[in-house]
Amino acid sequence: MPPLPHHRCARAEIDPDAFRHNLAVAGRHADGRSVWPVIKADAYGHGMETLARAVPEAAGFCVVDLDEALRLRSAGVRQPVVVLHGAHDAEAVREAAAHRLTLCVHHEGQVALLEAAAEPVRAGLAGVWLKIDTGMHRLGVTPAAAPALRRRLTALLADSAVATMMHFATADEPGHALIATQLERFAAVPTGRGEVSLCNSAALVTGLQAGDSIVRPGILLYGGSPVPSLSAETLDLRPVMTLRSRLIAVKEIAAGESVGYGACWTATRPTRIGFVALGYGDGYPRNLPSGTPVRVGNREVTTVGRVSMDSVAVDLGDHPDAGPGTEAVLWGEGLCVDRIAAAADTISLELLARITARVPRRIRGD
Ligand SMILES: *Cc1c(COP(=O)(O)O)cnc(C)c1O
Repeated sequence: MPPLPHHRCARAEIDPDAFRHNLAVAGRHADGRSVWPVIKADAYGHGMETLARAVPEAAGFCVVDLDEALRLRSAGVRQPVVVLHGAHDAEAVREAAAHRLTLCVHHEGQVALLEAAAEPVRAGLAGVWLKIDTGMHRLGVTPAAAPALRRRLTALLADSAVATMMHFATADEPGHALIATQLERFAAVPTGRGEVSLCNSAALVTGLQAGDSIVRPGILLYGGSPVPSLSAETLDLRPVMTLRSRLIAVKEIAAGESVGYGACWTATRPTRIGFVALGYGDGYPRNLPSGTPVRVGNREVTTVGRVSMDSVAVDLGDHPDAGPGTEAVLWGEGLCVDRIAAAADTISLELLARITARVPRRIRGD
């Protein structure tokens, strides 16, 4: 991790201890199942090498593509790693095998790719996960096609090396009818002696279990709640990323004057405005409305006007001590990312994953 550039105020502070804490929380919900953290998309914007190394106790990891898996192997990660999108060509199968990776298979062509691979290549794979589309209708084979595909896979690999997985479309809405439908369809799929994996974070914390042996939490490990009806605090989750910057200017605006692009916020009284050095160029959403909470010093204030590319204005109100240099927290410690996600009309996963490359990640404790 390069040192914090001297002249940048905005940075994302990453707390590996919080990640470990949240993994322990996931472990309690897992109730004996093994927990494979999902660290795709650079660990939801946090830095995948840092967080993978922070949890040597993790049973395995889930990533989306081969490049992400190879990054983990280069970083010295030895645990099983499953590539959720699988291999798209023969070269990818060879690479995956050379690094003892586990490949998902979500369409017939990927079974054919494995059949076409030489036996010594296949022997290098740690395993295969056959993905069943039980109603999400994203990736996966139909339950009807699964038995024949499983037979083709167990002709190539040991029965116990062929796992079966599915993904819920509505686990964040407990009681949604599609959850029961998906479980019912999955129950008809043969799984042999292989592992079974069903649950993302939402399914895990809402107690879904169906004889599965591996859970795949993502967002809860980063400190975001996966279910709107349960707060991160209730779930005992800690923020792993704290997005920080500083005030770089403070000025007084007269009543009737507006602030920022579009002049969409107008002062109704003389107002002290602070400018935080961070904007949508850093991944702080432009669609956040006036009134979004920001911590300045140790108080909560609110944004005014449009978010710019490099700055956002806040109403300092009765915060007389704030001036250039005062620290600000946009989300993280003391300000749950879920509140900002709600204000931006999205989910915490999107906010975390879209922090841009110009924001240095600073690892706490380094
Ligand atoms: C991203 C992903 C997960 C993790 O989802 P969260 O909602 O972040 O817990 C689990 N399984 C699959 C297949 C995924 O793509």
